[in-house]
Amino acid sequence: MFAPLPDKPDHDALEREILALWESKETFARLREQNADGPRFSFFDGPVTANKSLAVHTSWGRTLKDVFQRYKALNGYHQRYQNGFDCQGLWIEVGVERELGLNSKREIEEFGLAEFSRRCREVVVKSAAEITEGSIRLGQWMDWGRDYFTFSDTNIEYIWKFLRIVHEKGWLFKGHRATEWCPRCGTSISAHELHGSYVDRVDPSLFVRFRLLDRPGEAVVIWTTTPWTLPANVAAAVNPTSTYGRLENGDWVAVARYPDEKFLEQLPGAELVGWRYEGPFDALGPGGEVEHRVIPWDDVSMEDGSGVVHIAPGCGAEDFELSKALDLAVIAPVDEAGHFYPTFGWLHGLSTGDAAEQIIGDLDDRGLLVEATRHEHRYPECWRCHTPLIFRLSDDWFIGVDEVRQPLLDANETVEWTPEYMGKRMDDWLRNMGDWNISRRRYYGLPLPFYPCSCGHLNVIGSRAELEERAVEGLDQLEELRRPWIDAVPIRCEACGESATRIEEVGDVWLDAGIVPFSTLGWENEEFVAGGYGTGAAEGLTTADLPTHATWEEWFPADWVSEMREQIRLWFYSQLFMSVALTGRAPFRKVLGYEKMLDEHGKEMHGSWGNMISATDAFARMGADVMRWQYCAQPPDRNLLFGFGPAQEIKRRLLTLWNSAKFLGDYGAIESFQPAYADLELGRPDADLQPLDNWLVERAAQLVAEAEAGYERWLTIDVTRAFEAYVDDLSNWYIRRSRRRFWDGEEAALRTLWFGIVQGLRVISPVMPFLAEHLWQALVTDVVQGAPDSVFLAGWPEARTPDLALLAEVAELRRVVALGHQARSASGLKLRQPLRRIVVEGAPLAAAHAAEIAEELRVKEVEFGHVDAELRVKPHLPALGPKLGKELGVVREALQAGDFEELDGGRFRVAGHELSSDEVLVERAGKEGWAVAGDAGVTVAIEIAVDDELALEGRVYELIHRVNTKRKDEGLELTDRINLTIPAADDELLVHLDWIARETLASAVVSGTVDQPVIERA
Ligand SMILES: [Zn+2]
Ligand SMILES: [Zn+2]
Repeated sequence: MFAPLPDKPDHDALEREILALWESKETFARLREQNADGPRFSFFDGPVTANKSLAVHTSWGRTLKDVFQRYKALNGYHQRYQNGFDCQGLWIEVGVERELGLNSKREIEEFGLAEFSRRCREVVVKSAAEITEGSIRLGQWMDWGRDYFTFSDTNIEYIWKFLRIVHEKGWLFKGHRATEWCPRCGTSISAHELHGSYVDRVDPSLFVRFRLLDRPGEAVVIWTTTPWTLPANVAAAVNPTSTYGRLENGDWVAVARYPDEKFLEQLPGAELVGWRYEGPFDALGPGGEVEHRVIPWDDVSMEDGSGVVHIAPGCGAEDFELSKALDLAVIAPVDEAGHFYPTFGWLHGLSTGDAAEQIIGDLDDRGLLVEATRHEHRYPECWRCHTPLIFRLSDDWFIGVDEVRQPLLDANETVEWTPEYMGKRMDDWLRNMGDWNISRRRYYGLPLPFYPCSCGHLNVIGSRAELEERAVEGLDQLEELRRPWIDAVPIRCEACGESATRIEEVGDVWLDAGIVPFSTLGWENEEFVAGGYGTGAAEGLTTADLPTHATWEEWFPADWVSEMREQIRLWFYSQLFMSVALTGRAPFRKVLGYEKMLDEHGKEMHGSWGNMISATDAFARMGADVMRWQYCAQPPDRNLLFGFGPAQEIKRRLLTLWNSAKFLGDYGAIESFQPAYADLELGRPDADLQPLDNWLVERAAQLVAEAEAGYERWLTIDVTRAFEAYVDDLSNWYIRRSRRRFWDGEEAALRTLWFGIVQGLRVISPVMPFLAEHLWQALVTDVVQGAPDSVFLAGWPEARTPDLALLAEVAELRRVVALGHQARSASGLKLRQPLRRIVVEGAPLAAAHAAEIAEELRVKEVEFGHVDAELRVKPHLPALGPKLGKELGVVREALQAGDFEELDGGRFRVAGHELSSDEVLVERAGKEGWAVAGDAGVTVAIEIAVDDELALEGRVYELIHRVNTKRKDEGLELTDRINLTIPAADDELLVHLDWIARETLASAVVSGTVDQPVIERA
């Protein structure tokens, strides 16, 4: 028996009930058991950084993952559901630093690395628990408790193994380079971490005089936006092919940059080369030891500055390259924290930012400053702490990419990307990427297993067993493969037998995430270890096993992965890199990427801007289903504007489904309707169906086919669109057209509606699991004996080709009705007022449905024929202007003169051009007394004159409406019969007494001395 549904769903409460239901019935476990022998669908979860609770941003990706895993499960696929946490690196460290109030690396070291490491682990433990809780609330079905944690010793060992192989291939090297450097974090930043970290910044813009030693009173003028680099100056570069000129005051600049100035002398840049000058800060020491000269450089631009470039090889990547080519001196002015070294005199200890003002003042005092202003430009900042980056010389460890570049490009060719342009982005990245900087001068990360020996040999340890075998001491205190403990384990050099210690650096976190397809699947592992993945820091956090190589063979590569676009250069990249290096193959076959999330007004969400939405708030105020709908209704190639405003709108639209289900429940309860589960298996109700029922059945088949196509193309938006159109048809056509049959309790109608709604629930359940499950419980589990107790255990409905001719016929009918409504409303007449006649042109398929048209539009006669209407067509200028150009005038005149031919599909032929429906504006004016509407080849005209007979009927409809509103207001049941008294003034309506009685369920209708109709229960 159907239980009544409330007027609208309380999403939050309903979702919690469903979560409890799933838990008590072990629905997910049973689903997996049901699919255990099914075909495999392999999915790898990209690890989420475990440093905070679940956010609405992360919920987007988690929703998409869950949607497609649920869809595949409905289709019987056997899957892995292993969630992953990213547990090391700067993100984790920064939280702990903040919590402990530590502001530099020195303070971390004073605090103690062992305790610092334990605190970092605590952050991960807490965050992992919160993310798990949030994800469960979101409805994500994962193998919670068997997650992978990238800080496990097992994960670390797998990366060691990878690095050892990379070393054996000869790709590993230590490089001395000028790299982007975060002075706060005290580490270099690699290229893939830089993308997206450019911000608009205002910096000083300086023009500075370098006095020429051999030309008294003269100077070259350079331009810089980084004053702190001036003490490291070694050269000034000119473009040898550009012309330089001397101003009256003796300053040399590029002529092209100063078109309005008068020059006393002009020379080609090549002739300035070799001129010696006095360095701007020679007095400070390091600069004084260098001979400063003008050098040639083809890349000197004439776009900005003075046309002379200040060169400081210790502070810039290009400058550093130039120093190698021209054998220039290299001065490194600042330490790891970005503070000037003691050799820089009064600058000693100043940060690069603090030094700027003092440097400008000093230059001014000495008459070297030509001009100092401010300048806005794009400048990179640290992706983690937002400190502006500097360039600094650093020794880092790299994996050379030359040999692997082509194999990576080839592997990427085998991957199917959605949206397609993201694959192209990966291709671009692979073509242009530099060597992979894998070392970070930090603490909480993968310990790079590099042990350079004083004999010159580089030892690279490939496993824990090897470490233990070669350790000289310190194994007894080795809590985890991690700093500080690992640092106390020196090994014996394989070349000379002497003791060698590990370098201090830790690894890039993207190594941690990239190894996942190997470390979690037991690649090359010989012995299965139950719970064996939970090693090191992960001990006690997960019961994940360490499988054997056979498991890897079964599940590698992934059939599908999905993350946001940013991950092209991060996780997708590191995974691809490591996989190609180890196996020569891409680790995934298909990728779904998606763009960024912004707030509903299109602004970035920031805690400090007050527009950040916490997942907790979103669950409480919109509900997980509405969140998921918002994510799924989003084309992945555009930014998602997420917020409570759109959520309200979604809730409103979802009410159509809810109301339809409620309608079914209410009438089903009245009739003690018993649905037959076999109808779903059969693909149609096994009953005496009417044409409209057949139509809904076909419409449901069409929905299944459309949704399946959407899911198969990884486009959830196609699914939500198809579903919305379907629910509109079901509610605003099927139910509305069948009302009377429901009042009569007609079995075929109830069965058809039940079938139509339930098929819809099955299709949308991956997107909206809670509402779908809730309604499944109400409409299926609770009323049909032996039916699956979850929509997720019922499988995907069988797809078949629907009756397209029938669907087209009803679609055309609905179009005629819609146009009829449009014409009526343009005439200002209420729909309750019956009218005499409608003429329909251009809708031959609707001809079989004249009675329905008449009823829907409340007209007495329906004619199919020519509509006598004047057609006015004007050019739609924004579309046609660019297309026609000069021809537009001719076309406009021909249209105005009525000199055109109407084609099908709303197209027109005019003056030798064919115009599509969106290139013209069409107006149809009826004859006097007619209202006309038309669109895309269909035209309808309604006669709007109201005679006495029609007017009287209009009043009857009005009365019926008022009485039924009263019935509802007074809380009568749908089946309650009434006695009705109408005002004496409405006496004449009683000629339609039977009609009134039937429509209001009145046993008696009389007129009396009342102002308003009065009802009482009969
Ligand atoms: Zn930083
Ligand atoms: Zn050695």
